Amino acid sequence: QLEYESDLVPQRRRTQNRKTEDFTEASSPAFANAPDTDPHLPANRAWGLNIIERMAKSSLGDAVVADHHVETVAQLETAISAAIDAGKVWQDLSVTTRSQVLIRIGDRLAAARSQLIEVMGSETGKTIDQADPEVSEGIDFARYYGQQCLELDNIPGATARPVELTVATPPWNFPTAIPTGSVTSALAAGSPVIFKPAPQAQRTGAVIVQAIWEALDEFGLPHDIVRFVIAEESTIGTKLVSDPRVQRVILTGGYETARLFRRLRADMPLLGETSGKNAIIVTPSGDLDLAVADVVDSAFGHAGQKCSAASLVIMVGRTAVSRRFHRQLIDAVNSLVVDYPTNPQAQMGPVVDEPGEKLARGLTKLEAGQRWNLTPQQLDNSGRLYSPGVRSGVQPGSEYHMTEYFGPILGVMAADTLKEAIDYVNAVPYGLTSGIHSLDPAEIATWSEHITAGNLYINRGITGAIVRRQPFGGWKRSAMGPGSKAGGPNYLIGLTDWHDEPLTL
Ligand code: GLU
Repeated sequence: QLEYESDLVPQRRRTQNRKTEDFTEASSPAFANAPDTDPHLPANRAWGLNIIERMAKSSLGDAVVADHHVETVAQLETAISAAIDAGKVWQDLSVTTRSQVLIRIGDRLAAARSQLIEVMGSETGKTIDQADPEVSEGIDFARYYGQQCLELDNIPGATARPVELTVATPPWNFPTAIPTGSVTSALAAGSPVIFKPAPQAQRTGAVIVQAIWEALDEFGLPHDIVRFVIAEESTIGTKLVSDPRVQRVILTGGYETARLFRRLRADMPLLGETSGKNAIIVTPSGDLDLAVADVVDSAFGHAGQKCSAASLVIMVGRTAVSRRFHRQLIDAVNSLVVDYPTNPQAQMGPVVDEPGEKLARGLTKLEAGQRWNLTPQQLDNSGRLYSPGVRSGVQPGSEYHMTEYFGPILGVMAADTLKEAIDYVNAVPYGLTSGIHSLDPAEIATWSEHITAGNLYINRGITGAIVRRQPFGGWKRSAMGPGSKAGGPNYLIGLTDWHDEPLTL
């Protein structure tokens, strides 16, 4: 009898394991990410130049945006109740129809690609090479969540019930991808949405909402399922996120904003992707030429204005190898062409606004032991265009080590050992992205095991997570709420009220 049991147990385990794998791997349908535009094809170059021409002419201010200003408490009340009412129509649809609408939103965004790139460039200063993949990501979010919502009915042992209303408060730095991801995930989870764009990216928000409404029109559905609300943040915006009828708030923004939200309403059901202070470790075994290119790209893409950006590079070992890496890095950063996105040669664009107090400090003030390898220079009178800065001698525990500046500055630290470098990374209160350049498998294994960050990158840049292939989200102060990752299989459930199957006798 004993023999029989001991035979059976492992066998049963094996079967269970296989079932789990089947559910997560084989049975989930294949997904295709939208392709970026290939700039090497002559037709695409002409297309890009045409966008740039339009960007140069594009004027500020837009009637579509003005129509959506919510200035009074009464107007806010109308927006909230209209969205909740329309949500009932959305929730009455079959999940298959909801999925089809989401896929059509993806198609409509794909059709608006050039318009989105143009508006992002003129409104926030994003260069085409950064804006184009972002549009692909937005399309991916809509289509992926459109696919994932079908799975919500099939979670073994659980039931997911839609919530009454979700508010999406995305940032300006990814003004297409993040709003699209926030709005379509809530829709996929069965909720109507109030979308409040960042003040710096309202016109981009209007283009996205237009694409969403066109898809709703195709199915004869009311626009109020997605309400576009432009509101003054400290008054109406605050009232909106504090309203108890709002059952989910999707925030991507600074850690301080998330804390403010929590203070507004202690029980706020918040899904927050917050700040990062991300580092790339470079060891002497690494491919240093590749490391230089990846650090430059991760630190200065979109002028460093990504939660995922590298703002520290930590060199392991004080050797001739690390000195050579450091010198090459400085030259590569110094070679970047900095200009507005209307210059097709621009590799790094402006910052979104004149720097606030924190970024201004990061661009100008050195701390003890630090020196500029490249001093940031203000390049025109706009207050927005800066040459990239590199400072070395960043000491553990210094302000630079611990602070997210969100701009075009990179700090260089030196560590004697990989362990020390990992300690420097983990000492930071945030844990969003992290990278290593090393060709030594033992180093990579140690790093992967000990680093405290949500998204890890080996021998590549640390920005540009890809929907489904690498869901995006952090640890520690880089996340608020359930901490499930955007663009991944566990995201939608957190936007529903779900419970395990009731037990029956
Ligand atoms: N998902 C983006 C990336 O992987 C970053 C998003 C953000 O900055 O909030 O680069």
